[in-house]
Amino acid sequence: MITTHNLGFPRIGARRELKFALESYWAGQSPLAALQAQGAALRAAHWQAQAGLDLAPVGDFSFYDHVLDTSFMLGNLPERVQAFHGEALDNYFRVARGRSAQAAGAHAACCGGVAAGEMTKWFDTNYHYIVPELTAATQFRLDATRLLAELAEARARGVRAKPVILGPVTYLAIGKAKDGSDRLALLSRLLPVYAELLALLAAQGVEWVQIDEPLLVTELDADWKHAFSIAYHALKGSGVKLLLATYFGQLRENLEWAVKLPTAGFHLDAVTARDEVQAALNYLAGHKVLSLGVVSGRNIWKTDLAAVLDWLEPVAARLGERLWIAPSCSLLHVPVDLAGESRLDADIAAWLAFAVQKLDELRVLAAALDRGRDAVAAELAANAAALDSRRHSPRVHKPAVQAALARIDAALGQRQSPYAERARRQAAWLKLPRFPTTTIGSFPQTAEIRQARSRFRAGELSADDYTAAMRDEIARSVREQEALGLDVLVHGEAERNDMVEYFGEQLDGYAFSQAGWVQSYGSRCVKPPILFGDITRPRAMTVEWARHAQSLTERPMKGMLTGPVTILNWSFVRDDQPRAVSCRQLALAIREEVLDLERAGLRVIQIDEAALREGLPLRRAQWKGYLDWAVEAFRITANGVGDDTQIHTHMCYSEFNDIIAAIADMDADVITIETSRSDMELLDAFEHFRYPNEIGPGVYDIHSPNIPTEAHMVALMRKAAERVPAERLWVNPDCGLKTRQWSEVIPALANMVAAARTLRATLP
Ligand code: GLN
Ligand code: ZN
Repeated sequence: MITTHNLGFPRIGARRELKFALESYWAGQSPLAALQAQGAALRAAHWQAQAGLDLAPVGDFSFYDHVLDTSFMLGNLPERVQAFHGEALDNYFRVARGRSAQAAGAHAACCGGVAAGEMTKWFDTNYHYIVPELTAATQFRLDATRLLAELAEARARGVRAKPVILGPVTYLAIGKAKDGSDRLALLSRLLPVYAELLALLAAQGVEWVQIDEPLLVTELDADWKHAFSIAYHALKGSGVKLLLATYFGQLRENLEWAVKLPTAGFHLDAVTARDEVQAALNYLAGHKVLSLGVVSGRNIWKTDLAAVLDWLEPVAARLGERLWIAPSCSLLHVPVDLAGESRLDADIAAWLAFAVQKLDELRVLAAALDRGRDAVAAELAANAAALDSRRHSPRVHKPAVQAALARIDAALGQRQSPYAERARRQAAWLKLPRFPTTTIGSFPQTAEIRQARSRFRAGELSADDYTAAMRDEIARSVREQEALGLDVLVHGEAERNDMVEYFGEQLDGYAFSQAGWVQSYGSRCVKPPILFGDITRPRAMTVEWARHAQSLTERPMKGMLTGPVTILNWSFVRDDQPRAVSCRQLALAIREEVLDLERAGLRVIQIDEAALREGLPLRRAQWKGYLDWAVEAFRITANGVGDDTQIHTHMCYSEFNDIIAAIADMDADVITIETSRSDMELLDAFEHFRYPNEIGPGVYDIHSPNIPTEAHMVALMRKAAERVPAERLWVNPDCGLKTRQWSEVIPALANMVAAARTLRATLP
């Protein structure tokens, strides 16, 4: 008999119950007991949903983040919260969110304020974890209360429990040494705590523990490889069987030694590393379990069950009971249940599988392996029919799009003249002062704007009334910008809910779920649009708004678009063609929009690539391939315009050192980036690499309610001018202003405009 299991279940709840319980507790509207009861109810529901499995995960639930849970379990609390003497869970939220969020809560006065822990992306997913803080002095001390309580809870419900923990090597690797010390030096202090934890679990009668080490799919130097060997030799006598879990990619050069580490089982992501299964089998010791992740935990498409069985049956014949099957990784990265989708188009819904459906697929696969395909003939036939309908759907495959892709050549991504010539022509009509000022696109999304949108969606506001309301908002932002004296204006994006969804909704080839929420961090969820078919743009998407905005002012108005790479990186994408192909299709569609804007008289056009960096593959060896097609897609989108038209792009980060050449290759006339928090240090990249075009390093941190002073912004720009010639610098905020209030934005931008004037007067 084959064993089925799961690496983790989404925590947020099918109706985002956890989000609402958290936010209510944080707002002081409900007691801690209510939050804890909601957590227990969700865990119970999730185990119920996994009841068909042989082993269900325990410890995968989290009130905020599983990495922060791990830090608390290991007793690695940042020093600034160690003296806290309130509820442990409140202290946990203080690290997760900073104190300002709890300002009114208990112990605000006695325990003072604390900064939130830093947050960053979990490998190449869109989930963000709280970075473990490490120093040479870090000590660990086990606190297994949470895990043991959840184990007891699971058992009381009859769950065959497999505790899930984050492995020690990955834990150290994704942490940050605050003092620049060597994180690996902490391993010898950390391992006894892990050993103690495993012994505790063994004493509870636990047989299997899943220990996650996704670090194994990345490039490792000799020290980190050695750390794995030390760690798993140290933990091998712990009394439980360890299932060493890897996911998100291939192990390549790490495969052989990782499979041979002294653990009782090994999990391989057979969706992304399907071609490593055979080698893994060859390295696998005779007593060892091989768990194969055969259903994608990262995407929402139905699995091709027959195709999986074709290669899995021989593996099952060879391994017998030593074969386990599971999703490729935790299901944290997919929505909970397709059953909640009543409005999703029936054709498309038939092609999808969310977490609950994925576990069903696993059950069918296990039955086919155990009892033969005939035993699940009906399920397999239904699966094959769904796949077949997708494969042949005219909504997916559009010959005209294929033909347009085939016609792409290098000239399509080429501006007419080099930057220097363009810059001359643009300067001639733009007549901008030195240090021109602009903003990144959005102005505050006020309560009135959001209300108008939801009333429009609910049918309570007519399309005409909605349009009129948005046109008024646009007029308001134009008036404010003129009064502030900004040089290049924006329309303010009042009509946009989200910079990707707005375009996805208007492109053909995209579908939207009603409740396809995925946790981004803490209580924050995103509902990624589903890119299912060849992309076309039935009609112009932004031109009328932009034309209206331009008609209200003599100053140049920037057309505002989201770029193809960002749209792709924030969507669920097709698994039936390479990402690069989907990206090129998006590029052709957005290119048409760029050209329409230009024809409508918008001769400054910004194409946001907020998420370009996020798409970088986990392995450096694959970066170039990604950057090549990502940059090509941007160039196709942007570079069809005339020399007079000024192309801007915007990126929401500032780590450019390693990708600066690719950024320069995009050949935008102006790039605006996020730099204010890093004190312009991040412009270092621009010092070592002579970025050839214009740059607007953000001087106003829009993530903070603070209003930057003129002097502060002047000082930042002076630093920038040490690295980039002054005549190529712009003055602008870090990012869009949609999350801020007008009462913050106006004084901040007034200071920014004053700073630009001071710079013009004082810098040679
Ligand atoms: N133009 C977008 C805005 O201003 C850019 C947002 C982003 O970079 N994340 O909101
Ligand atoms: Zn941004």
